[in-house]
Amino acid sequence: MKALVYDGPRDVRIKDVPDPGIENPNDAVIRVTSTNICGSDLHMYEGRTPMEYGRVLGHENLGEVVELGEGVEHVRRGDRVCLPFNVCCGHCGNCERGNTAFCLNVDSDTPGGAYGFAGMGSYSGGQAEYLRVPWADANCLVLPEDAVEKENDYVMLADIFPTGYHATELADVQPGESVAVYGAGPVGLMAAYSAYLRGASEVMIVDRHPDRLKLAEAIGATAIDDSKSSPVDAILERTNGIGADKGCECVGFHAHDPRGREHPESTMNRLVSSVKVTGTLGVVGAFLPQDPGAEGELAQHGKLPFDMGEFWFKGQRMGTGQANVKAYNRFLRELIHRDRAKPSFLVSHELSLLQAPSAYENFDQRLDGWTKVILKP
Ligand code: NAD
Ligand code: ZN
Repeated sequence: MKALVYDGPRDVRIKDVPDPGIENPNDAVIRVTSTNICGSDLHMYEGRTPMEYGRVLGHENLGEVVELGEGVEHVRRGDRVCLPFNVCCGHCGNCERGNTAFCLNVDSDTPGGAYGFAGMGSYSGGQAEYLRVPWADANCLVLPEDAVEKENDYVMLADIFPTGYHATELADVQPGESVAVYGAGPVGLMAAYSAYLRGASEVMIVDRHPDRLKLAEAIGATAIDDSKSSPVDAILERTNGIGADKGCECVGFHAHDPRGREHPESTMNRLVSSVKVTGTLGVVGAFLPQDPGAEGELAQHGKLPFDMGEFWFKGQRMGTGQANVKAYNRFLRELIHRDRAKPSFLVSHELSLLQAPSAYENFDQRLDGWTKVILKP
């Protein structure tokens, strides 16, 4: 089959690789029909995480079940399924409690696995014609009869819609509250969208890309361009000097100033300053224990000059980490099915798998208008 293979920093290619097959009785194989490029793929693409050469990328996958191991009970051949980016077993101590992003049975040195991801097991990615899905009963979210018609919405259930929602869950967003979101990439936009689904009265979203800020405004958020003025001042001004009730970090260790210089601590510290005393922060932007490519010595070891004093003094709380996609994907699927949510509003490009290498290049440069790419193998 054809697949997108990581050949080194900023070098991804379409290659012929062996077709996946059933390896364990709980496996399924799907024919991939939609697979997104994610901001997290860019960390690997840029060589910022230790991705093995020759591996297939792609963790935001949707497709049709074409093969089943004899132990699979609840999924049928022909089902259209969306797969959480986290591979999970469904029955370990963490999965049982809903923390499927930290599954203890994945083939990884650390808890938690994902398809085509550095440091998260050896699972192959779905930017390919076919994909092996381990523990298929636990991992396949079966889609309803409008699966094909709303495929571009449902594929967002693999990662960014639940991840944006997770930011608002970690931040404990309640009806009527105001929410500050740093980052208007796909994850930040989904966090803003989710905050409104949860009844937020105002969402203020900070970025500097006009196209992304425009999308934020289209869903009713207040766009704040941090290349023009201080985002903290703007948020304090809009909240009578009090700060937003809740805050979401959706940028991660790549946080930089508008001129491109990296300051991995900048969004965290600005978020602390933008949120009121006793407010809660949800941090889903990725921060890693090691980042050898970072500029400063501290950052190379995943350490940040964090404003602990202000954070403590304000009595704030914080939740962090990978999204437990399975904790949310069922009810978010229902919102799509019942026309109460349409996350495909941020899709900018639908391309063939063969166009993936150039799509990576354009998305990596965050060229104007490249918000979210869906590949159709
Ligand atoms: P993205 O790179 O497309 O978007 C990031 C946005 O942040 C960009 O629009 C950029 O302009 C903006 N930004 C950079 N520095 C900023 C600053 N100082 N202030 C405000 N905005 C700034 O990525 P994405 O797909 O939206 O993902 C965002 C982050 O979420 C990444 O770190 C990604 O790895 C992470 N992620 C986490 C999970 C999870 O499970 N926790 C899942 C998916 C993605
Ligand atoms: Zn992703």
